[in-house]
Amino acid sequence: MSIYLLLGTNIGNLTENLKTARFLIQNEHTFITQQSKEYATKPWGVLDQPDFLNQVIDITTNFSAFELLDFTQKIEQEMGRIKLRKWGERIIDIDILAFDNQIIDTEILTLPHLLAHTRDFTLIPWAEIAPDFIHSRENKTIANLLAELKNQ
Ligand code: ADP
Ligand code: MG
Repeated sequence: MSIYLLLGTNIGNLTENLKTARFLIQNEHTFITQQSKEYATKPWGVLDQPDFLNQVIDITTNFSAFELLDFTQKIEQEMGRIKLRKWGERIIDIDILAFDNQIIDTEILTLPHLLAHTRDFTLIPWAEIAPDFIHSRENKTIANLLAELKNQ
């Protein structure tokens, strides 16, 4: 299977947050097979906030894409709720970058993730673990998408 998740955090202890997310992601349904290094990245969009720590992981799962979204959103809520009392902000973002070669366009789930292939903080860790994976919307490998972005 080729299922890629992007983890991001910018509140609290960033390495601990990624570790907690990875811990919660592994259960009887889901197993992490590969993980990129953790990359410190500048915020994107809203600039007056702390830097992020990002990581892409590769998983196997017996969840469908929609079940996986439900599962990862529950983990976001679980981790967010703990920190919400203290910091008032969400501490983890889990985005599904791609689920094999599925293309999905619904209100709640877009696959492959719509903006993933346009952001270096996604493509750099993704290319580290899956350079030859073909992005089913762009029909290009992750390594190619990263090279294109760098040439812009
Ligand atoms: P963002 O990731 O853009 O900062 P959120 O994490 O709050 O924002 O996600 C907003 C919504 O994006 C979620 O409620 C979810 O339904 C939707 N979504 C659509 N496609 C995806 C995807 N591939 N992975 C994760 N969430 C997705
Ligand atoms: Mg998200």
